[in-house]
Amino acid sequence: MTPDFDVAVVGAGIAGNVVARQLANAGREVVLIERGETPGSKNLSGGVLFGRGLEEVFDGAPVERRITRHVLQTLKAEASVGLDYADARLGSPANAVSVLRAKLDPWLASRAEEAGATVLTGVRVDSVLRDEGRVVGVRAGEDDLTARVVVAADGINSFVAKDAGLRGPDDPAHLGLGVKAVVALPRTVLADRFRLAGDEGASYAVVGDATLGVPGGGFLYTNLDSVSVGIVVRLDALAASGRSSAEVFEHFCDHPFVGGLLQGGEVVEYGAHLVAEGGLRGLGGLVGDGIVAVGDAAGLTINTGLTIRGMDLAAASGLAAARAIEAALAASDVSKASLDAYRRDLMSGVVGRDLTTYARTPGVLARPRLYDDYGRLLADALRGAFAHDGTPRRPLRSVVRGALKGSGVRAKDLVGDLWAGVRGL
Ligand SMILES: Cc1cc2nc3c(=O)[nH]c(=O)nc-3n(C[C@H](O)[C@H](O)[C@H](O)COP(=O)(O)OP(=O)(O)OC[C@H]3O[C@@H](n4cnc5c(N)ncnc54)[C@H](O)[C@@H]3O)c2cc1C
Repeated sequence: MTPDFDVAVVGAGIAGNVVARQLANAGREVVLIERGETPGSKNLSGGVLFGRGLEEVFDGAPVERRITRHVLQTLKAEASVGLDYADARLGSPANAVSVLRAKLDPWLASRAEEAGATVLTGVRVDSVLRDEGRVVGVRAGEDDLTARVVVAADGINSFVAKDAGLRGPDDPAHLGLGVKAVVALPRTVLADRFRLAGDEGASYAVVGDATLGVPGGGFLYTNLDSVSVGIVVRLDALAASGRSSAEVFEHFCDHPFVGGLLQGGEVVEYGAHLVAEGGLRGLGGLVGDGIVAVGDAAGLTINTGLTIRGMDLAAASGLAAARAIEAALAASDVSKASLDAYRRDLMSGVVGRDLTTYARTPGVLARPRLYDDYGRLLADALRGAFAHDGTPRRPLRSVVRGALKGSGVRAKDLVGDLWAGVRGL
């Protein structure tokens, strides 16, 4: 029997939209199936997109600001220590931009539709169809839809990749939970508070008291007329802490450092979403007979400690998958061996190399001292250097030694963490 479509793509996030558009452009019959009422309606990202090298996907996309300022901040209840890096060179060409998924995803879907893909919204795929072990389509409710190739682009929970046997059960150690709000503020207020000119933007990565000591961090990214503010914490550590994600998020927003930046703003969007945190170790199977997985469905996210990257990986995997699927369709061979060209292409390119570079990072980020002790150590050392209490000054080395002693961090642990950081970050 002739299949209904050449390709059925499940999920109209970044990855799915890219695959659908590329293959429709190549003249293939493509259906893009999205459970949300509109593409992007259920999607959530912090919002900094590292789109260099992906102009083919993002040229003309609705973006907010060019990120030219990166702030790294550790918080204590009563102190904060930061590193403020601003560089005009990051703006031209734009190194990273802030985006809002509620605008970006519908734009990407409209491009897929213009290319000729059939976009079905409000339809949830429940399982894959098989014939002699090979994936031959998907089932949504009572309806079966057949295709030569199925693309699992249904995000981090990917029922499709799991049902096809590409992924096993989720490992909580490889998952983070993100909570994010978009807070509207007048453009002039944003420019003053975040020291921005024109369409320049700022990105803040925050650790320490940000997350009440739960491994993870907070972020603030500026949009044109709003700030994206959120936290991402390790799911297993959050459960062990007995705290709720909403509690950690509220604590972050109430900290004077963050509260001052958001003051007077109006919350216009709020949501929670899982994040893949395992890096290379969290990667699922990418190909099977008649199926490929892209983006979060494949576990493709990199948390470098300074940035979370998933959107660019979703787009890059979508491009690589589309190339391999087109070649497989042209050769009338959609077996796993044929589609494996996608895995080889992806893993030998920037995505695979970055995953390898940051393979040790999740282990570094799991070290608990990062989230409390070092922030306190830094703040105490600086207090010793700056606070004049009428007693004779001590040399800096003695101040630092005193702060180290007071922090309870053993020299052995400090050296171990530094060494792990050098190797893993
Ligand atoms: C709090 C947070 C902050 C982040 N910050 C950043 C950041 O700053 N920069 C960055 O690059 N990345 C960031 N990420 C990661 C990034 O959001 C993801 O990597 C990216 O969204 C993955 O895109 P995707 O297309 O693979 O999946 P998604 O965007 O999740 O899209 C999956 C789509 O599939 C649909 N779907 C799911 N199940 C079904 C089904 N059964 N049937 C039909 N449709 C289905 C969904 O509705 C959705 O539209 C962040 C993530 C979170 C949670």
